[in-house]
Amino acid sequence: MNLVLLGAPGAGKGTLAKRLMEMYSIPQISTGDILRAAVKEGTDIGKKAEEYMKRGDLVPDEVILGIMEERLQKKDCANGFILDGFPRTIPQAEALDKLLVRISKKLDMALNLEVPESVLIQRLAGRRTCSNPDCQAIFNVSFKPPKVEGKCDICGNPVVQRDDETEEAVKHRLKTYNEKTAPLIDYYSGKGLLKNPGATETEEIVVYLKKILK
Ligand code: AMP
Repeated sequence: MNLVLLGAPGAGKGTLAKRLMEMYSIPQISTGDILRAAVKEGTDIGKKAEEYMKRGDLVPDEVILGIMEERLQKKDCANGFILDGFPRTIPQAEALDKLLVRISKKLDMALNLEVPESVLIQRLAGRRTCSNPDCQAIFNVSFKPPKVEGKCDICGNPVVQRDDETEEAVKHRLKTYNEKTAPLIDYYSGKGLLKNPGATETEEIVVYLKKILK
């Protein structure tokens, strides 16, 4: 199954992708995770991406497309993939279509996760992430606070607020989503690939998917 997850930041794409990855044994490809790792390692891509990411702006298409071209041809994508955070613009979606033709693959579905904006802001601005790169457990000051304030329940390292999850950056990311990414809903609808689960919780979406894939 070759799947695109659509939805604003905080809509739950990452959580759903991890669940589907286990269910279908296909990789989650998160451009956000790939870029964060590149920033941490200080690679050329990381250096190019860092300032855009801090502001909550999109990283230029050519950087992203280079990453995806390489990633989608890795062996673990042979039986399918879950794209999480890519494509983010119409030009990226068009480039993805061309890339898939070149590597003889096609998309099966674009799954659209719709969550009200007030909930997105609460989820993202309240989010805290374990600073240990090997852990990266996620907490939320409102819904799932760490048992000891500021410390990861799993590994004990400090939990931190990501630069792009301050309230200001979150609002900017949502504006960017509405302007640049939301048009992908019509794009994939026009291709007959769009599915709307009409649910916001991961487990409800899993039930919906099982039903339509039967
Ligand atoms: P995410 O974790 O998907 O919310 O991504 C975090 C940040 O990485 C975004 O705010 C962008 O700065 C950058 N990013 C991730 N994916 C893309 C993409 N497909 N195109 C451009 N920028 C991206």
